[in-house]
Amino acid sequence: MQTDLIDKLNSTDKGEDALVVVHGGAGNIKLEYLPKEKLERVEADLTRALTNAFNLLKKGASAIEAVAAAVTVLEDAEMFNAGRGSCLNELGKVEMDASIMNGANLEAGSVACISNVKNPVLLAKAVMEHSNAVLLVGDGAELFAENMTKVIGLELAANEYFATPEALSELKRFQERGSMPHNALSTGSSQGEKYGTVGACARDLSGNVAAATSTGGLIGKLKGRVGDSPLVGAGVYADNQTCAVSTTGFGESFIRVVLAHEVSSLIRHAHKTIAEATVEAIHSVLSRSNGKGGLISINSQGDYALPFNTQGMYRGVITASGQVKISIS
Ligand code: ASP
Repeated sequence: MQTDLIDKLNSTDKGEDALVVVHGGAGNIKLEYLPKEKLERVEADLTRALTNAFNLLKKGASAIEAVAAAVTVLEDAEMFNAGRGSCLNELGKVEMDASIMNGANLEAGSVACISNVKNPVLLAKAVMEHSNAVLLVGDGAELFAENMTKVIGLELAANEYFATPEALSELKRFQERGSMPHNALSTGSSQGEKYGTVGACARDLSGNVAAATSTGGLIGKLKGRVGDSPLVGAGVYADNQTCAVSTTGFGESFIRVVLAHEVSSLIRHAHKTIAEATVEAIHSVLSRSNGKGGLISINSQGDYALPFNTQGMYRGVITASGQVKISIS
């Protein structure tokens, strides 16, 4: 139990040297209503994601390796809506989206509507490193995944790995309520429902930045629906000259205002600081599309910002000294 880690993490701050920030989704989350056991698990998972990535950076790994490692931890944890914990679509099937981007050279890889891969972020990374494509979807992405089992040892997983009894009953409860597809924004933590998409941004010892995002999308979503998470510019962006960004929230609103790239543009063209740019993006630009959610962002100087306009966002940072801070609402 490490609830002493729970800290009012400033929405903007400065780290140095190796730096990692992560999120585990934004929504109707209030610290005081979270069951203790759930809080402990979320905290432990976010801490493990941060420390794994940080230890890699300290050994000289790239920012790309670090964000992939952090997101892999969160995909394997059942607490989040990504990888193992992904929510199911209207047909009871998992359809996951993920992305990764390298701020050093603007290379990016992403996948959408995939259902056969244990760690979608690693498939996105493989698209970036082992193909000429940026985005692969559906059957094509799954075929590429099968090839990647031999090339990088990518692990596949059957629908049963994701469509657990809990995930199926969560979908049933949702469908019985007859609601529109939704995400963490309209689910109640007291009912034990899952929160969010996961993401990470990192700065390596050379000052390069990277970002990655991974999600199961919205519970009960239409088959074939793709959110912002795999879209470069909407749910992920990284450029050493400006910043790295990973977003979470109702994806359609983020797509309409191309939110992640908007942060970068505000820094590049309007000469805003990362603190100013992220606050403007979340509290002004996103509200133009009635959007709810949050983002995490860092730059190559080690500044970071984690703003959101929902009740809470699972988030954390690990800075040069190895100090971990986790915050929720
Ligand atoms: N942005 C994700 C989507 O719309 C969901 C989330 O972040 O909670 O697919």
